[in-house]
Amino acid sequence: MPAGTSSEFDLIDRYFKRPAPSALLGVGDDAAIVSPSPGMQLLMSTDMLVAGTHFFDDTDPEALGWKTLAVNVSDIAAMGATPRWALLAMALPVADEAWIAAFARGFFDCARTFGVELIGGDTTRGPMNFCVTLFGEAAAGTALMRSGANIGDDIWVSGNPGWAALGLAHLQGRCVLEGAQQTECLLALHKPQPRVALGLALQGLATAAIDVSDGFLADLGHILDASGVSANIHVDCLPLPETGAKLSADLVRDSMLAGGDDYELAFTVPPGYRDRVEELSRQLRLALTRVGSVVSRGSETIRLVGADGRPVTVKRFGYDHFR
Ligand code: ADP
Ligand code: MG
Repeated sequence: MPAGTSSEFDLIDRYFKRPAPSALLGVGDDAAIVSPSPGMQLLMSTDMLVAGTHFFDDTDPEALGWKTLAVNVSDIAAMGATPRWALLAMALPVADEAWIAAFARGFFDCARTFGVELIGGDTTRGPMNFCVTLFGEAAAGTALMRSGANIGDDIWVSGNPGWAALGLAHLQGRCVLEGAQQTECLLALHKPQPRVALGLALQGLATAAIDVSDGFLADLGHILDASGVSANIHVDCLPLPETGAKLSADLVRDSMLAGGDDYELAFTVPPGYRDRVEELSRQLRLALTRVGSVVSRGSETIRLVGADGRPVTVKRFGYDHFR
């Protein structure tokens, strides 16, 4: 069928109606019905991706479909919970079937990877915008929150914070990435891997967790605020990307500390569990790096320290839509 001639309901049936075996009622009625598993609590989260703000108009639709769901899965991962059911509300300027088919491929690829079922949504004409609401489950009382960090805890971060921001800088012509480095950073930007297995394994180990969507320092700041504590961060401990000589040290540092869109987890763990976190890193084949510690509330919430023990200052902590 040529672009623009399908009805809203054709599009939903063809591209978004998939079996949802764990739901009592999925796509097709006025509302979906699910039963949480016995003893489990429901967690709910929603996140919106807006053209021009979160992605470029010419972004590959399959990658965009993946990322639309992945950023929501990441929020459930940060709570140490299991993602289960999603609602997808979308506005599209035109019914371009090839584009929608590719978007749906990416979306369901992510859904399969993380065990999510799409059970409903909304489809309207308008400026391109995708909003997912995701429901997850955790055994009662086990979800990880931002508010549990204690003085003395270690601060850890997963993966390679900064790669997505470097990928974005490359696309915007602010730096030139080459070879494997370009591939890795663009993959981090377009196909983030929410850390669901890590979040689940951190239950009982971590005292607080958050996913890094707006920048490592900005998001760590949310844990510190919620927990009423401060942090010392050793800047040289952050995992340096394997960059070629051409990148400016300032750009690399800013990307690592304040770059958004990584969807890694930042978390706090009592120092007695260091071995267990290191063991977890081997099991999951995922870098987990200890970058600092929680200290009592001082005049600064985050104190950055360089390799020489001297204070380090930075221009920004992360991304804020209204600043
Ligand atoms: P209503 O008008 O009653 O709100 P809709 O016509 O918007 O219902 O949607 C019909 C059915 O299709 C509903 O079950 C809704 O959840 C589902 N749906 C609509 N858009 C999407 C979408 N993009 N993805 C998944 N399900 C969708
Ligand atoms: Mg209705």
